Amino acid sequence: MRFEFSPEDEAFRLEVRAFFRDHLPPPMARRFYIGAHPPSREDVRAFQKLMHGRGWGAPHWPLEWGGTGWSPLRKHLFMQELYDADGLDYSWQGLHMVAPVMLAFASEAQKRRFLPPMLAGDEFWTQGFSEPNAGSDLASLKTRAERVGDEYIVNGQKIWTSDASMAEWGFFLVRTDADVKPQRGISFLLIRMDTPGLTVRPIVSIEGGLGLNEVFLDNVRVPCENLVGEPGMGWTYAKYLLGKERTASAFLYFNKRELEKAREIATVQRVNGQRLIERPEFARKLARVEVDLLALEYSVLRVLSQEKNRHDLDAVVSALKLRGSALQQRVTELQVEALGLHALRQWGHDEGEAIEGGEALRWPPQVPGRTAQALITRASTIYGGSQEIQKNIIAKLAFGL
Ligand SMILES: Cc1cc2nc3c(=O)[nH]c(=O)nc-3n(C[C@H](O)[C@H](O)[C@H](O)COP(=O)(O)OP(=O)(O)OC[C@H]3O[C@@H](n4cnc5c(N)ncnc54)[C@H](O)[C@@H]3O)c2cc1C
Repeated sequence: MRFEFSPEDEAFRLEVRAFFRDHLPPPMARRFYIGAHPPSREDVRAFQKLMHGRGWGAPHWPLEWGGTGWSPLRKHLFMQELYDADGLDYSWQGLHMVAPVMLAFASEAQKRRFLPPMLAGDEFWTQGFSEPNAGSDLASLKTRAERVGDEYIVNGQKIWTSDASMAEWGFFLVRTDADVKPQRGISFLLIRMDTPGLTVRPIVSIEGGLGLNEVFLDNVRVPCENLVGEPGMGWTYAKYLLGKERTASAFLYFNKRELEKAREIATVQRVNGQRLIERPEFARKLARVEVDLLALEYSVLRVLSQEKNRHDLDAVVSALKLRGSALQQRVTELQVEALGLHALRQWGHDEGEAIEGGEALRWPPQVPGRTAQALITRASTIYGGSQEIQKNIIAKLAFGL
């Protein structure tokens, strides 16, 4: 099969490439590439403002709310260029998660209040779904919200709440009715993160990052106007949210970029004087990942081409997540293997931006951050639905088991 983009799409791709080349400050791109977890709030905000200024603040939103109106293929080309330029994959919880829910289910007043500052990079969001005993089995969540007058009083605990410490707002699943079937008693509530009674406690992750958190809610008072949609419909909205970004969970752009870096590392690193890439054992491993990644890319393109008249792609999306997240781990492990002893150094968030002089000989530019990335990608087969859960979905939807 020969795969070609139209001259217009090709021109679009070059326009995007030129924009990033001319406007993304190299030190910021370097920080994003090194992969500090989480990236600093200043960087996230500056990047979102840069994209918003160009009209690309939320490519996937509808035009009337500041989206781009791009075809799925253009969004795909854009994302590939974004990653290749070491740009930031946007502020997920806001732009990709809660925004689609708001667009579909929130009141006009809520949309007008929350969407513009999200787009402009003035307010960031966090996702409060998981609890200590409700991860895969989310419907068993226990955080409760009791209605008193025109407020909800919220009590409970969330965990693994990514970026909670730098968010102004959180969207939470809370139990508003304990007397109905578990899925029916859940509501979708927007809570300001500085509300009295709400405490964020960071969890240090394996690579030393501080992106994950526990969130404790102790008599947190939330105005009823912060409820999205109908009470008791939170489960439906959450399912809509989780299924929204259908191909993103393949981590395609990340995987392609990191595979290229693995190849660069293997071209530089030597074992007994021989370049690693010339050693058959390593070259075979690299080729294996490359073939699997190509298969994933074609699957993503197939899904994108069906976006407009899609029927039920849920099983396919689970398969993409299954393969894409496992590939993330294989690609980053390959980098660490290729780096050998170089992989042992731990890098601070701002280190490695400009490695000069003798240091540059010792630490090639590909080194900083690779081990941390390999460690943090251990989580990619857990969040967004673990491997076992994805397999259960495929078994049920694709094979009727
Ligand atoms: C880095 C990271 C970031 C995250 N960010 C967020 C966030 O921002 N907001 C948020 O709300 N949550 C977040 N999560 C939480 C994430 O959604 C949960 O970790 C995930 O859903 C799994 O839940 P659990 O950790 O409770 O594991 P469990 O559900 O307890 O699962 C433990 C093991 O049992 C297996 N298992 C469970 N049920 C079944 C079954 N029915 N059949 C077969 N096997 C099963 C699982 O696959 C897993 O291997 C994040 C998690 C991580 C690791």
